[in-house]
Amino acid sequence: MSSLLDNLASPDYRPPRGPECGMALVLAAVDDKTRKTLLAALDNPYAPSTKIAQALAELGHRTSVHVVQRHRRQECRCHG
Ligand SMILES: [Zn+2]
Repeated sequence: MSSLLDNLASPDYRPPRGPECGMALVLAAVDDKTRKTLLAALDNPYAPSTKIAQALAELGHRTSVHVVQRHRRQECRCHG
């Protein structure tokens, strides 16, 4: 687990504001290695969003398949 200070030092860190994308929160919370793996999984068209949400739950990040799907469709605040 990375510390809050590590998160704040990361160029990927975005301050939480408004209705934040759940995936952005997870990406800000995990370490670099996990973030790379997660981004690869999100980009993998054969990786079901249900399985990604399940994998994140196993890592202790509670998110929903809807959050994963919205992020992958680029309909969240991360995009635009
Ligand atoms: Zn997003």
